[in-house]
Amino acid sequence: MKNFTIQEYQAQVDDVLVRHRSILDILTKLQESTAKVNRAVAKSATYCGCVKINVEKQAVPEDTSYSQLKNYMKEHIDGNLCDICREKVEAELSANIFYFTTLCNAFKIDVGELITKHHEQLKTLGKYGLL
Ligand SMILES: [Zn+2]
Repeated sequence: MKNFTIQEYQAQVDDVLVRHRSILDILTKLQESTAKVNRAVAKSATYCGCVKINVEKQAVPEDTSYSQLKNYMKEHIDGNLCDICREKVEAELSANIFYFTTLCNAFKIDVGELITKHHEQLKTLGKYGLL
């Protein structure tokens, strides 16, 4: 597989987007793609069964500091996505990235610069930058 830059991807997204160029279409397609990611994950548990979602209250000792919190937080996922479910989740995530990129294009936001800025923010602020 050939390496590409984020800028090349962003330009390709702009090139292939034909029908849904209205900001309303972009926003609703982005929302729809997010719902489809959620649906694909849910179906991996409820239809396929390759993963189980065991949700319970996060059990964190009272005196836990914010920096230690990660050690007590569970993902509530048992098992791993099978190949079919992984392919479906990846397809839906790809569509989500596509519509995320169309939103950036609509406002002339450089995706590479956005990721770089956010990466710098994460490096500088760490977990405190996620609030
Ligand atoms: Zn599965």
